[in-house]
This record gives sequence, structure tokens and C-alpha cells, in this order.
Amino acid sequence: MGSVKDYFSSLGKGVASLVKGLEVTGKEFVTPKITERYPENRDTMHIAQRFRATLELIYDAEGNHRCIACGTCERNCPNGTITVETKIVDTWDGKKKKKLDRYVYDLGSCTFCQLCVVTCPTNALTFSNDFEQAVFTREKLVKQLNYLPEKPEPKPTPEQIAKLEAEKQAKIEAAKAAAAAKKAAAQPAAPSASSDDDKAAKALAAAGNDPEKQPKIKAALEKAAKLKAEREAAKASGADKGGAAQ
Ligand code: SF4
Ligand code: SF4
Repeated sequence: MGSVKDYFSSLGKGVASLVKGLEVTGKEFVTPKITERYPENRDTMHIAQRFRATLELIYDAEGNHRCIACGTCERNCPNGTITVETKIVDTWDGKKKKKLDRYVYDLGSCTFCQLCVVTCPTNALTFSNDFEQAVFTREKLVKQLNYLPEKPEPKPTPEQIAKLEAEKQAKIEAAKAAAAAKKAAAQPAAPSASSDDDKAAKALAAAGNDPEKQPKIKAALEKAAKLKAEREAAKASGADKGGAAQ
């Protein structure tokens, strides 16, 4: 009899223990969670803005970045993490311009020191706090940061075209003036005695056989010669008088 009584006593204790355990389990089941678990809370979890997960080029709303391909970040990176590949393009005003071709970043060798970000002269870089960067191979950690298609070079405005044309014209005029001045400086001074005769001969030649112009030109030339002779005579007589007075 004793063993039957012990059996039921033990059974009762076991059931009571089970009920107590279920009571604790049930209570925890309906208690709100304290510890959050990833990845169920991926959409709601908070990552601090200052957390540095991966380097990014900043794109604006129009899809433009500010990198001018100067290479400062590449030179300042202590780990050789950045490779800036450049290319030369022609601009509308006929000049050459260096542009970014590929911005290559190796997340696997980055130590998140942020030297690249703080030394960039155009503030083209930032660190994203997107921490989900796990991949299966190291090659996948090497990324091209300029991922959007490149936009064509901007077209010139009418004002820019007009300004360019004006500048071109001014250069042409300046070159012509310089050439003329150089030519004049290289020519020997023409003898003054014959210059009047040359002018007269040129004027007559220009008049050709025009019966109206020929006599007029001849008269004008004779008048000019006469006036010149009178001036020279007056000059000579003035010089003689001056000499006698002395
Ligand atoms: S990201 Fe900045 S520092 Fe680096 S090449 Fe571009 S402009 Fe220069
Ligand atoms: S954070 Fe530092 S290590 Fe990483 S790319 Fe920039 S300069 Fe290089």
C-alpha cells in the first residue's frame, strides 16, 4: 500500500511542477520582448549616423556627383584602398577637361579612418551607415562608386557662344595689329623728297584716263608744289636775315 501512496504523491508533485513551469512559460510568452533580434527587426532597428560602414560618392537629386577626379583621396588613403581612374574629354569651347572615369573602392582594405572624406576639396564623399556589407568573396568588396550613367557635357548658352566669338575676334584683331606694327617697324623710312612725287604719280595713276579728274589732280599738285616752294623760300630768307643780324 505504501508504494501506491508514494506513487501518487510523486505524480502529484510532478504535475504541480509541470503546471508551475507552464505558468512561467505562459507568462513570458505574453510579456513584451526586451531583447531585439536581427534580422527580424531590420526595418526598425536604429544605426547611429556616425557609424562608418562603407564609402560612397554623394549624388544629388539630378544624379550628379561632385568628384573632379583630382586624386587627393587616393593619395591620402594610407591603405591604397581607392583608385581614381580618369579620362580626358573635349568641351564645347574647344578645351580639354579631365573627368572621372571609374572610382574604385576596396571595402576589404578600408580602415574607416575617413581621411579621404575630410581631405576631398569638393566634399564629394561620405560614409554610409548601411552595415549590411557581408559578401561571400573578397572580390565583391571591391566596388565602383560612380555607378550612375555619365551625363553628356553641357551645351553652351547663347551668351557663352557670343562671348567666345567676341574673344576670338578680339584675338584676331590683336594679331593683325601686332603683325602690322612689326611690318612697319621693319620697313626703312621712305625718303621724304621723293614721297610727294610718289604720291603725285599714284594719284595720277589712280585717275587713269579720266578726262575730268586728270586736270583737277594736276592743278592740285601744281598748287601744292607752289605752296611748298613758297614756304621753303620764306624759310630760307628768314634764315639769311637771322644770320646777317648776328
Ligand atoms: S572624391 Fe574628392 S578628393 Fe577624391 S578624386 Fe574626387 S574630388 Fe578629388
Ligand atoms: S577611410 Fe581611410 S582607409 Fe578607408 S578609403 Fe578612406 S582614407 Fe582609405
